[in-house]
Amino acid sequence: MPAAAAYPDKPITIVVPFAAGGPTDKVARDFAEAMRKPLGGATLVVENVGGAGGTLGAGKVAKAAPDGYTLLLFHVGMATTPTMYRKLNYKVLDDFEFLGMINDVPMTLLGRKTLPADTYPDFLKWLQANKGKINLANAGQGSASHLCGLMFQAAVQIDMTTVPYKGTAPAMNDLLGGQVDIMCDQTTNTTGQIAAGSVKAYAVSTTKRVNTPVLAKLPTLDELGLKGFNVSIWHGLYAPKGTPADVLAKVNAALREALKDPEFIKRQEGLGAVVVTDGRLNPAEHKKFVAAEIDKWGAVIKAAGQYAD
Ligand code: ASP
Repeated sequence: MPAAAAYPDKPITIVVPFAAGGPTDKVARDFAEAMRKPLGGATLVVENVGGAGGTLGAGKVAKAAPDGYTLLLFHVGMATTPTMYRKLNYKVLDDFEFLGMINDVPMTLLGRKTLPADTYPDFLKWLQANKGKINLANAGQGSASHLCGLMFQAAVQIDMTTVPYKGTAPAMNDLLGGQVDIMCDQTTNTTGQIAAGSVKAYAVSTTKRVNTPVLAKLPTLDELGLKGFNVSIWHGLYAPKGTPADVLAKVNAALREALKDPEFIKRQEGLGAVVVTDGRLNPAEHKKFVAAEIDKWGAVIKAAGQYAD
């Protein structure tokens, strides 16, 4: 009997390579909910395997049984870590099946609430005045927050002390507590904090403003003078290499259905994310896109000389 005939007949685990409560986790939990119906009422469980910029979780899925019951939901880290990590125990393009992209999410540049700068120009002055003392939180080397922070430091030519966490949920806690000064994070995690006024928000990382009630007022870094600054974080779904083709086809069909779910779309849009509707829903296109992103971000990482062991 082909494997897909019965699939799924037990719970599916979606590994999120970051801590619970952060932006990748939030996307995964909403996505898991949207996948339930297209997968015939299946149970989808999110497992958080944070650490080392997402590479621990990705490595776990690369080595998991290729049966469709362990999937990975990961972001741009799929494209940054192959260049950044000298020792990665998996190969992104060889060790995974590509199942389609889910969304594109802008980032926001945040400061702790007690930071004495309400506008970006004042923020820049504060950065200049506090050179050598600034702490920048991130989710480890190769994470989205690391990438955005790296590009921001290069653009303003100020080095900061990076403080790595297992995800931006714990990093956000420390930003709220004032233990760290600044952070870049996806709007899926920052919209609520910005709306509540519990952090200072200076800009968005994409070249276009983000058209939500909470975020529309934020200028882009590009319009603030960092010409061409553009970091947009995509999320995609992956299975271990060797997962049967009929199972992959079933998951891809469910993903396409899930992304049409009006509740899912509404939630994502409210948080500034754009649900994918283009060719990247197609596994071959998804893989091609990630390969191009590996080249694109690889060049940025090499130029910055940022490597991890
Ligand atoms: N936003 C994180 C990152 O910087 C990951 C997370 O916790 O979702 O990659």
